[in-house]
Amino acid sequence: MKKSSGSKFIPLSDWLGDIKKPVVIAGPCSAESEEQVFKTAKALAKIPGVKIFRSGVWKPRTSPHSFKGHGVEALKWLQNVKRETGLLTAVEVASPKHVELCLKFNIDIIWVGARTTVSPFSIEELTRSLEGIDIPVMVKNPLNPDLELWAGAIERFFISGHKKIIAIHRGFHTYEKTPYRNNPIWEIPIELKRRYPQLPFFCDPSHITGNPDFIEDISQKALNLDMCGLMIETHINPDSAISDAFQQITPARLKILLKKLSIPQKNEDFKIVKQLEDLRNGIDIVDNQILNLLKQRMDIVEKIGLYKKEHKITVLQIKRWNSIINERLTLAEKLGLNKDYIEKMLKILHEASILLQHQIINKK
Ligand code: PEP
Ligand code: MN
Repeated sequence: MKKSSGSKFIPLSDWLGDIKKPVVIAGPCSAESEEQVFKTAKALAKIPGVKIFRSGVWKPRTSPHSFKGHGVEALKWLQNVKRETGLLTAVEVASPKHVELCLKFNIDIIWVGARTTVSPFSIEELTRSLEGIDIPVMVKNPLNPDLELWAGAIERFFISGHKKIIAIHRGFHTYEKTPYRNNPIWEIPIELKRRYPQLPFFCDPSHITGNPDFIEDISQKALNLDMCGLMIETHINPDSAISDAFQQITPARLKILLKKLSIPQKNEDFKIVKQLEDLRNGIDIVDNQILNLLKQRMDIVEKIGLYKKEHKITVLQIKRWNSIINERLTLAEKLGLNKDYIEKMLKILHEASILLQHQIINKK
């Protein structure tokens, strides 16, 4: 296999063949036994849309006492899965040794887990071990919500010649309790997609939710955001799983779940496209008005800054700030606007106003 050249990500359909959205990667968190791997893979191979069989063979466990995977032995099981079911196989790698073994056992796709994406040293070691090798790489987002770290890992693979890359949103660790195991922060993959429009995006609703009951909702959200694939942890008997038992679903449940998803289509019907364009023109006009109003607001802030400087009045006026928050939020509620978003917006406006007034007052 030779590394690909060119300056763009290679579209998924060019290396995965005929695909329909969503492309589904399914399989257990860990390969636990030959029987568990086979029973799961055989059931998955019958589900339309399932193309790739995932399985951890080296597990990055929080506790040193937890099951760490069967390693090479499990790679042999995966080779058989590929031969017997026709599914492609995917394994998580975190070191050059893992890469070497995956290549030796003809694993089709490798992925970098959240705990590895955080480490530029590890990513560089992986790219060095993959030099000259053409194998697709999936890069999960890092544990922490750091867009640049995710982008950096993807770029490290890209500049070392890997163009068959998939980015996977698997949510972010938060110290605060949320309904999810790893909080999805959709703005982050959206911004990454804006920067790299050809990069295929998948979602891992299993690690986001940590709960089978929420997987459908998160999968639907991902599809609504134009993500093209899903990685869903699937186990023939989730209750007996050695890792992530609480979030895995059976192949039967996966099949039902996939059927329930509504798949957005590329709609080229002239009337529909035209109507959307008209609505978007409306948004453009309103956005222009908002920006002009923001300019007017900042001009007034500037005058207030000069006035405060002249009369030696503090920049921060807490009573006024409190009344702004209260009055605007009351109005927002009356208008049926989401108060949390309006509060965030007001805080950004206030921050910009304070900054400008500091600059005015500090200017000699
Ligand atoms: C996994 O997919 O089994 C895994 C460990 O994922 P993540 O890196 O997203 O935690
Ligand atoms: Mn897992």
